Amino acid sequence: MRTNNHLRLFVFLIFLTYSVCSFSQLPCYDNYKIDKAALQKAKEFESQNNINNSIQSSSFVIRVYFHILNCSDGTLPGVTAAQLTTEFDTLVAAYRANNICFINAGYDNIYNTKLDSNFTVGTDNSSLFDSYRVPDCINIFYMLKIKGGNSACTNCGFGGVTLGIPNTFCLVAKSNVGVAQTVAHEVGHCMGLLHTFDFSNGYEDINGSNSSTAGDQITDTQADPFGYNSQSCYNTSSNGCTYAGSCKDPNGASNFSPPYTNLMAYWWNGKNGVTCYSALVLTGGQYTRVNSFLSTNSDLINCESPSYVTESGINISSGYLMASAINTLTTSGTVDISGSAIALLGGSTVTLEPGFDAYAYDGGSTLIRLSQCSGTPNFAIAEKLKPVAVANTSNILIAYPNPTSSAVNIAFTLAHNESKLSLKVYDGNMKAVKEISLQDRLKGRNTINVDLSKFSSGIYAVIIQGTDMLMKVMVVVQK
Ligand SMILES: [Zn+2]
Repeated sequence: MRTNNHLRLFVFLIFLTYSVCSFSQLPCYDNYKIDKAALQKAKEFESQNNINNSIQSSSFVIRVYFHILNCSDGTLPGVTAAQLTTEFDTLVAAYRANNICFINAGYDNIYNTKLDSNFTVGTDNSSLFDSYRVPDCINIFYMLKIKGGNSACTNCGFGGVTLGIPNTFCLVAKSNVGVAQTVAHEVGHCMGLLHTFDFSNGYEDINGSNSSTAGDQITDTQADPFGYNSQSCYNTSSNGCTYAGSCKDPNGASNFSPPYTNLMAYWWNGKNGVTCYSALVLTGGQYTRVNSFLSTNSDLINCESPSYVTESGINISSGYLMASAINTLTTSGTVDISGSAIALLGGSTVTLEPGFDAYAYDGGSTLIRLSQCSGTPNFAIAEKLKPVAVANTSNILIAYPNPTSSAVNIAFTLAHNESKLSLKVYDGNMKAVKEISLQDRLKGRNTINVDLSKFSSGIYAVIIQGTDMLMKVMVVVQK
């Protein structure tokens, strides 16, 4: 009997959830706050530079950092690490046509039940995210659920939210991972784009006469009747995919041709879970607006990469170093990253000169990332010919061939016999990807062949640890 009652309750709850979320006619859209001064600055940039609704020739490479929210006990992650790869690719694909590219600065896990499943937009202070935000990057938080808004949102949650336009952080719900390019939509808000149906500055005329100041304030996106969705004149086809209402624009016209496939519209999302449109797009005017925000907003500019970067005189064991170049990033002299420091060194070409050293502990990491934005990615370690020894300089560790496509020989010298040594290979996230236990090694020179054939291109650290010594060498895998 007890089991049966539970079963009935369970079925009822499923039905309740399904009926509320799937048959709701109310749209649930993110209610952002627009920085009007920043928008004005971007518009002035457009008029001063005489750019209008066109693909821009200037290039941008913007750092993005991902956060996986989990409950405090480690359960219910907002996204998996594997899914982040496709999320990043989705973002890159959405803006690539306009020479706007992104570099993946890495990800972390956050264990906070409140933020993972109980953050309520409009009620909770967004500063709850502040301590997790990585500087000089657009931060994208993936969480189980985002609460708030009208009843549709309260019952089912937002798919994604950007709290202010422009911004350097946004939220994406687990429900929208891999759905409707949501990550690219939210980052669009971060980079200055309003919804096509925005009416905070007035409804847009169908004939476009007020399109630079009303609606989304971009002239080449059509007036979107979705903005009238709370009014009685508003209606759609039975699947929700096309507009079928009689709403009138400020001129009294009603012959809307909605921007159905626009990334910043909501038409992709039909009734009863129907996906109406995929391969969502941006217009030349929207690309121009993004370009103008990237050129004028200091918070966004801080997330962008210069053409060439040289890092030198760095010795950090905590905090962040987020450095990337559109073309080449080079280190010069001492660049020492250790401890809990989180670092990114990125570019089309990354060259690490002698004096570069990275050794993470206490949760730190050094990520060397080659952007795929333009040209052929390339990396070089000038240090590759020089053995790197750490902790005990009497121990010498050499890797050859280096770079390698398959296996590497690790040669090392021991000061005394070692009954047990561990050899670990770490990837660019300083995650151990291979471990070999070495027994009864004798004093003097030792060589071991390590198979790296299954590893993708990148820079790996090989670390050998014994009772009183630790040695490290960087190995480049090049496929
Ligand atoms: Zn939105």
